[in-house]
Amino acid sequence: MEDCIFCQIVVGEIPGEIVHTTERTVAFRDLNPQAPLHVLVVPKGHFANAAELAAGDPAASAELLTTAAAVATAEGYDDYRLVFNTGEGVGQTVFHTHLHVLAGRSMTWPPG
Ligand code: 5GP
Repeated sequence: MEDCIFCQIVVGEIPGEIVHTTERTVAFRDLNPQAPLHVLVVPKGHFANAAELAAGDPAASAELLTTAAAVATAEGYDDYRLVFNTGEGVGQTVFHTHLHVLAGRSMTWPPG
């Protein structure tokens, strides 16, 4: 999708601080980090949210999780939080599936 910012990062049309790539995923640092580690893991293909990705490309869906774990481990974190926001009502602002990987500070539960 030409107007999707994460599609553009995936193909290198706009810069992203990429930390890890796999066959089906790209992981890059969030522009506005909410924790010392804040990386977004996205599928290379365009899907609007996690459920659409799971239905449309289960292999990429699974790879998102293994990539997230690999990123946290590579950055030295055993404890981390993974978040998918789905829908504007819970704060989704970019409609290309992305898994937030957050670590490096204490976190509250439930999330606000
Ligand atoms: P959401 O709110 O949709 O769950 O998360 C979108 C995330 O994308 C936000 O944390 C935001 O800071 C990040 N973001 C938005 N635009 C860009 C961008 O152009 N580059 C990067 N690296 N992150 C972005």
